[in-house]
Amino acid sequence: MPVPLLDLKAQYDTIRGEVDAAIRDVIERQAFIMGPEIPALESAIASLTGVGRGIACASGTDALLLPLRALDMVPGDEVIAPAFTFFATAGAIHNAGGTPVFVDIDPTTFNITPEAIEAAITPRTRAIVVVHLFGQMAAMEQIAPIAAKHGLAIIEDGAQSIGARRQVDGVWRTPGQLGTVATLSFFPTKNLGAWGDAGMMLTDDEVLADRLGRLRLHGGAKQYHHDEIGYNSRLDSLQAAVLLAKLPHLDRWNAARRQNAEHYEQGLAGIPAVCVPRVDPANEHIWHQYTIRAERRDELMAHLKGRGIGCAIYYPLPLHLQPCFAHLGYTTGSLPVTEAAMTSVLSLPIFSELTTAQLDEVVGAIGEFYS
Ligand SMILES: *Cc1c(COP(=O)(O)O)cnc(C)c1O
Repeated sequence: MPVPLLDLKAQYDTIRGEVDAAIRDVIERQAFIMGPEIPALESAIASLTGVGRGIACASGTDALLLPLRALDMVPGDEVIAPAFTFFATAGAIHNAGGTPVFVDIDPTTFNITPEAIEAAITPRTRAIVVVHLFGQMAAMEQIAPIAAKHGLAIIEDGAQSIGARRQVDGVWRTPGQLGTVATLSFFPTKNLGAWGDAGMMLTDDEVLADRLGRLRLHGGAKQYHHDEIGYNSRLDSLQAAVLLAKLPHLDRWNAARRQNAEHYEQGLAGIPAVCVPRVDPANEHIWHQYTIRAERRDELMAHLKGRGIGCAIYYPLPLHLQPCFAHLGYTTGSLPVTEAAMTSVLSLPIFSELTTAQLDEVVGAIGEFYS
């Protein structure tokens, strides 16, 4: 039985009527740019996450770029970021005029650690990009005081963590509540996916929110008047309509992913060559990826693919070893935990519509490989 890594068609089949109607509404009104769907989506996501303001933009990458631009960095300014993440995290730092300073991760959650951040701070550090990787949050309650002590901004890259929560002093916290700004991506494969590119910034800082709103509109609050030089980074009304139609299902989809993760945890428990992902006990995970660490990873991957089972390596080459960042001077050995992850991680299918039979197929194929 083939098991795709992700099956967006299976999701569409369950929501076809709602999304098609929402799209048709936009087409009938012909208001494609900054239509009423934009503020509606911004307030819906802000209330979902409990953060004051949402500012929609063209992609998760732009959602990182705009707040980094708002730091008004000068050459030599540094931004600390994990090396084990999607490229956009560091590309945005460079494109905003900063120098990425890559740090290592926790071997069990794959998230950036407070210790690594603290050790990387210099007089030139301006900000920290905290990536909440694979669907669970980093230790924000420890990172926020470090940032406050050194006067640094925190940009939380929440592209993979919409709906994730972390308990801090008995209170559930979401991305955006403990940092300066959090960013979301609605890339089609994310837990809440549009039908193209889309992103959002979330912040409780009203002044920053207004500035981010201008930066996405060529730097002007009033049409044809420009306070500064910004970008064309609007979100399409059509994408906002798709997202508004899908949003009521997000909780259910994330819960289904959680059940799938439990199924894997039980099924894979007896295979010593496989290390299942660890959930930090303070976290509620939304399982954007289910990423195991496996012995003989490349052979296992070939075996699964031969059986028609989708799987992928996130991420095969960490950012500190990317050719485009060679000038920063990192070498193999610079970030050992990240480099060990690179050679052992494998992400398995975890999407909401997976059937029990499909989950068992994946577990069975892994067991067969190691038996
Ligand atoms: C997807 C992703 C982004 C970029 O989002 P886009 O919408 O594709 O531009 C940034 N950071 C992380 C961690 C991501 O997973």
